[in-house]
Amino acid sequence: MSALRVSDLHYRYGSKVALDGVGFSIDEGRFCALLGPNGAGKSTLFSLLAGLLAAPEGGIAIAGHDMRTQPKAALARMGVVFQQTTLDLDLTVAQNLRYFAALHGLTGRTAASRIDEALDRLDMLERASEKVRALNGGHRRRTEIARALLHRPAVMLLDEPTVGLDAPARAAITNHVHDLCDDTQMTVLWATHLTDEVRLTDELVILHKGKVLASDTAHRIAGDRPLQAAFLEMVGETG
Ligand code: ADP
Ligand code: MG
Repeated sequence: MSALRVSDLHYRYGSKVALDGVGFSIDEGRFCALLGPNGAGKSTLFSLLAGLLAAPEGGIAIAGHDMRTQPKAALARMGVVFQQTTLDLDLTVAQNLRYFAALHGLTGRTAASRIDEALDRLDMLERASEKVRALNGGHRRRTEIARALLHRPAVMLLDEPTVGLDAPARAAITNHVHDLCDDTQMTVLWATHLTDEVRLTDELVILHKGKVLASDTAHRIAGDRPLQAAFLEMVGETG
């Protein structure tokens, strides 16, 4: 079964077309990279998937739930890490997670054990009582990913989660999320403009100027070239 299905999505800001007939699907438990240069439409697609914007036509289904007819069920199965951080800097890591857990109806011992489990997954358990303001960028990102795991989503959306991080922090987060995919049945959609975050075994959707240029496993899209070469050829050197 596909965990995420998008069909013929269109979106425009005034006369500016941001998404122009976007469609693809991701099988359960797969890591899918959404690769596209700045302005490709990645964040617009995430806003539609998260229900922040409504598409005039086309469809979205999350874990089999249609966003139009069953938005509550669809959103309940989804975890989102947006491009801009949404943590409260003056709260501790654990407080940020506890608040979010409560929003999802998780309290008491259940919340506490989910929080420990999620922080442990991201190697953040020992920082639970630190204020987010004191954390570096990589640890803040890991906190956000842990938070998005609390309600055990079937599908996790991450919009350029490594932006602004140094190379080791970028690699750590990319590896953590790949591991999550391998170890649980969670499905991931990971937006990026960097080919080095994509593994050849990943699913890959290449988005450019609001259109899907390719949708397949990364190794099939790369063919006998490095993925970076295939990507640049598709989007042009300016991409
Ligand atoms: P990406 O996340 O891939 O960089 P976006 O979805 O942010 O792409 O943007 C897609 C296109 O839509 C770009 O041309 C961008 O300038 C335009 N765009 C995004 N948000 C707005 C907005 N609020 N108003 C007008 N144009 C927008
Ligand atoms: Mg974006």
